[in-house]
Amino acid sequence: MPAPDSILNADLHCHSVVSDGTLTPEALAERAKTNGVELWALTDHDEIGGQHRALAAAKAQGMRYLTGTEISVTFAGETVHIVGLGFDPDDAAMQQGLRATRGGREQRAMEMSNGLAKVGIKGAFEGALKFVSNPELISRTHFARFLVESGVCRETNEVFRKYLTEGKPGYVPHRWASLRDAVTWITSAKGMAIIAHPARYKFTPNEEYALFTEFKTHGGRGVEVVTGSHTAAEYLKYAETAKEFDLAASRGSDFHSPEESRTDLGSLPFLPGNLTPVWELLADRIQ
Ligand code: AMP
Ligand code: MN
Ligand code: MN
Ligand code: MN
Repeated sequence: MPAPDSILNADLHCHSVVSDGTLTPEALAERAKTNGVELWALTDHDEIGGQHRALAAAKAQGMRYLTGTEISVTFAGETVHIVGLGFDPDDAAMQQGLRATRGGREQRAMEMSNGLAKVGIKGAFEGALKFVSNPELISRTHFARFLVESGVCRETNEVFRKYLTEGKPGYVPHRWASLRDAVTWITSAKGMAIIAHPARYKFTPNEEYALFTEFKTHGGRGVEVVTGSHTAAEYLKYAETAKEFDLAASRGSDFHSPEESRTDLGSLPFLPGNLTPVWELLADRIQ
């Protein structure tokens, strides 16, 4: 009997040096293959500059591939991440939209550095830059790595908790893309928009309902259910949400780095069998 579609080692969420990961697309492809991944997507933040490399690396490893990205969106005053899969990486409107979304990161980073200087942490902008490969994509993760390297904190999680989240000295609010724009860029480029790690947002039930409802109105079709950011209880909760909103379900580790990530590529449980996997609806976009 053929295996049901949900029994597929798909890993459709991870980051390379093109955004805030520490491995190259090629090293990620090799690690994914070693870990048994059958269908892979590289989803760098607000950036698709690694897509051609990732596809070539997936092919060299004998893995199937979906193009990917993870777009930063501001919704109800919170940052929400929208994963795009299966889009045309050469789509001009999507490239332009992502370029605009990346804009302002450098300014924000300088303000973050000023905030950290006020509590005695000097040179954080230059320090973070040492960890950046893509000059358009300086992120909080790069600051976290610098603060660990310089001995201010023991690990990146601690840096976020003490310095980089709302109300802390290195936190600078930022306005990202709108939900409508992000979903439209992806779907107009023949891809599928997916709500990333929904359990991570600090929404009230009403706000979360509004997110899912508006997301669907704009053409969004999927939600991450099994992700490195969710607990087992949250897999079940968002499996129910997927059914309630008639959304396809995705699976991805959100792997960033062998040193920092708890969840390795390809290591998550399979999707619950009663959901429609996103790769079923994206069959003709798989390369
Ligand atoms: P940015 O896009 O600059 O706001 O950075 C967001 C990134 O920071 C996320 O994609 C994660 O990789 C990382 N991040 C956010 N919160 C945490 C946390 N609590 N611990 C470790 N990394 C985090
Ligand atoms: Mn990240
Ligand atoms: Mn994310
Ligand atoms: Mn991510």
